[in-house]
Order: sequence, then structure tokens, then C-alpha cells
Amino acid sequence: MLKTDENIWQTGYPECGLTNQSPIDITSNVLVSNASLRIDFLGYNQLISQFDVSNTGHAIQFSYVGEPSEAPQITGTALYGDTLTLSQLHFHWGQADNAGSEHRINGKPFELEIHLVHYNRDKYPTFNDALNAHNGVAVVAVFYMIDEKNVEELDNIVEM
Ligand SMILES: [Zn+2]
Repeated sequence: MLKTDENIWQTGYPECGLTNQSPIDITSNVLVSNASLRIDFLGYNQLISQFDVSNTGHAIQFSYVGEPSEAPQITGTALYGDTLTLSQLHFHWGQADNAGSEHRINGKPFELEIHLVHYNRDKYPTFNDALNAHNGVAVVAVFYMIDEKNVEELDNIVEM
């Protein structure tokens, strides 16, 4: 078994064996739909250029450095009515086209996964203050399938 196999992570790191753990395999036959839970995206239709781009060693990360009050936000009943502000986004990908996402759906990995990381700026002054609070941080994950339509846009990011 490879050391990178998440099934054995708990042998060295017991907290990896708990139930609220990443990566998550979203299994559609056990999902329960709840139409009352919503996430609304605010300001995500605007072009934003105020990001610092960095290589974290395991992801490319775009950290928002603009005025926090002008950053995109999420809100809604799924967030208990709180409004959370975008702090950074980063990409997960792999060396093969059939793997790379952190999470899966019905066991299927995706080529690329983007995490939009938000924090509760109304309740915590900084991202680090919010990080360990139960209502401090929310991450929206977006799966990508690479094809001719989006590869050109992704090439721009790879060039950076
Ligand atoms: Zn991530």
C-alpha cells in the first residue's frame, strides 16, 4: 500500500480516522436533498484582479488582497444566514487526467478541483481567527473536467 493512500493515514495520524475527514467521497445513494438549504453567491459576477499568486508546494493559490468589503461573498440558509468573505482560492490537480481532485463523487475523482475559501469576517477579524471556529470558515469546492473549451483558460493559470 502506498503511503499516499488515505486509507492508512490514520495509522500515523489518528485524527485522520475520525468521521469529519477529507477527502470525502460523495455517495449519491445516501444523499438527502434539502431544498431549504441555500448558498447564494454575491459579487462572483465581477472581474477581480486583486490576488497574490503563490505556489504553496501542493497547490497554486490566489489570495485576495483587495478591500475585504469588495470581495466576493457567500451567504444563505446553509450558512445559518451568516455572510462569509472570500479569502483565497486554490487548485487541486494531479499528474494524470483521471485524478487530481481532493474529493470524489461515487468514487470518481475529477481532473481538477477548485476550493473557494471564505471566512466569517463579521464574527472574526482575521482568517486565522476564524480558522478554528465552527462557524468561521466555509469552502466551496468546484469539480472540473478538462476539455477543449476550458483548457485555454487553464493554460493562462499554468503559465503564471
Ligand atoms: Zn483545498
